[in-house]
Amino acid sequence: MRDIVKNSLFWLVIFVCCIFALIGLNINSKKIHNTDYTTFLSIIEKNEIKKVRINGNYINFIKKDNSKYTTYIPMHDTKLLNRLLSKHIIISGIPPKQKSILFSIFISWFPTLLLIGVWFYFMRQVKNNVGKGINSFGKSKTRIFFDKKIKISFADVAGCDEAKEEVRELVEYLKEPKKFQKLGGKIPKGILMIGPPGTGKTLLAKAIAGEAKVSFLTLSGSDFVEMFVGVGASRVRDVFNHARKIAPCIIFIDEIDAVGRQRGSAFGGGNDEREQTLNQMLVEMDGFEGNEGIILIAATNRPDVLDSALLRPGRFDRQVVVSLPDILGREKILQVHMKNIPLSTDVDTMVIARGTPGFSGADLSNLVNESALCAARFNQKVVSMSDFEQAKDKILIGSERRSMVMTELQREFTAYHESGHVIIGRLVPEHDPAHKVTIVPRGRALGVTFFLPESDVINLSREKIESQISTLYGGRLAEEIIYGTQKVSTGSVNDIKVATNLARNMVTKWGFSEKLGPLLYTNEDTDVIFNNTFSHTKYISDITASIIDQEIKLLIEKNYNRAKKILKDNLDILHAMKDALMKYETIDAMQIDDLMNRKTVRHPINWENDADKNF
Ligand code: ADP
Ligand code: ZN
Repeated sequence: MRDIVKNSLFWLVIFVCCIFALIGLNINSKKIHNTDYTTFLSIIEKNEIKKVRINGNYINFIKKDNSKYTTYIPMHDTKLLNRLLSKHIIISGIPPKQKSILFSIFISWFPTLLLIGVWFYFMRQVKNNVGKGINSFGKSKTRIFFDKKIKISFADVAGCDEAKEEVRELVEYLKEPKKFQKLGGKIPKGILMIGPPGTGKTLLAKAIAGEAKVSFLTLSGSDFVEMFVGVGASRVRDVFNHARKIAPCIIFIDEIDAVGRQRGSAFGGGNDEREQTLNQMLVEMDGFEGNEGIILIAATNRPDVLDSALLRPGRFDRQVVVSLPDILGREKILQVHMKNIPLSTDVDTMVIARGTPGFSGADLSNLVNESALCAARFNQKVVSMSDFEQAKDKILIGSERRSMVMTELQREFTAYHESGHVIIGRLVPEHDPAHKVTIVPRGRALGVTFFLPESDVINLSREKIESQISTLYGGRLAEEIIYGTQKVSTGSVNDIKVATNLARNMVTKWGFSEKLGPLLYTNEDTDVIFNNTFSHTKYISDITASIIDQEIKLLIEKNYNRAKKILKDNLDILHAMKDALMKYETIDAMQIDDLMNRKTVRHPINWENDADKNF
């Protein structure tokens, strides 16, 4: 094998050499000699030249012995021609190369043409994009609508029974439109679902489609707000056309307030686009008759900003309120979401529901999910109550910040503060029982006391509010009693804010001040307890304003002093609770019971478990 390669290589080299040799010979035979101008002139004089060819500054000449030469004229020589003619030498020349006119035009115009070309290219690009936006809708933007058959049923939606009742007849209609048409009844075209985020509006709309076994088109109001005016309107048209083809069906528009804001209000940019989209939506809604089997469901949490034209009869005239679930609702929602996870026997949905006031359906679903993750993290086979507790705390106040370094003194300080809250909370009348207290820092708080309301708060009694104020000052008072007034920290800022707002509301809103009577002294509609944007109204005289201030101060002083007395009378409990907190970091309701009864504190139920988990 090698030999063959070697041989062929050898012959190849020989072959190449031969070729070069031949070429060399050929070149040699036609060799043109270079010579200088002086020599050229002398050869002319000697009359040895036969032929001359002038090519610009180059001169090729052939001598009488047929040898060829070339030379270069360094300067323009006017006498050369006469010299050659006098020796009777044959002179020839090569005409200068004529450039094509087209070519020269092209060269001079090239930059301009290039510019025009680039401009055309960009214009086409933009045009294409606009065209795409309008024409290819529904092909590329599948995200906006899909018409899958939905598998969700009413059983998956818990805790909003009124809303469910209200939409139940829609299912009947979508199933048997003919039955209703026979009697000439008009079915509502549009339903507006109003409620805070996460309360299950989308879920309910899907459940209607699922129960009636019809298609479900979904799109979000914010999808319509595009850069190009007219695109949104065109999308609306497309969606309705598509819906007509696949009717009966439900069109669900999430966040309708993104397009349906009052027209002419100067809020945010892109008004033209939004108004056109909204107008198109109104036109389409008016265009379809009640018997086409299309029901429009829109969801919003801001019904107040909607354009009134949307709410007129024949449009979204039916409104369904989906509110936050109450205790029983929360329990049912928890049960729905717990169906698919293995639970430990100690899980009590009612207790979880009681501890999660204000949670939406989405929050609860998140809670169940977090608990399952929590259990999985510690390789448990079932999800237990303590997982739910941890998940709830994490959602409510942020994850535990065990990495934050707290000195022993800081921990003790926090332990006294929280114990102060717990003890007052237990010893004033009508207060919610403390359910858990911890000195593990969470979010921005160094320690937290959790009170577990017996039921959702609907009405507060005067006694209960005063108890709350006392309890709020319990933390600060404990600091003061143990460490002295000079050492009191700024950690009570939130306690003070909430307490002051409660007292202010008692005086100005709830009519709990004898001096001022049951009159409204504020024009704040919002609940002042949770935001501190209180402002005196203009219609209050200066005297009244100063009485208000006095009354608020009196109320606070009364409850502050009550709390101080309670704490001083129970100093032994305060110290014991601090010790328990320093030992366990978190103590539960039963341990608090022990402490309040001056008994030795039992270990927490799953102390062993917890200890494993945390370290
Ligand atoms: P909204 O449209 O009101 O913002 P969603 O319908 O999107 O809320 O709810 C989000 C998720 O929260 C749902 O997918 C569901 O898992 C859960 N959820 C909300 N409300 C309920 C409810 N009433 N029953 C069961 N699950 C709910
Ligand atoms: Zn506090």
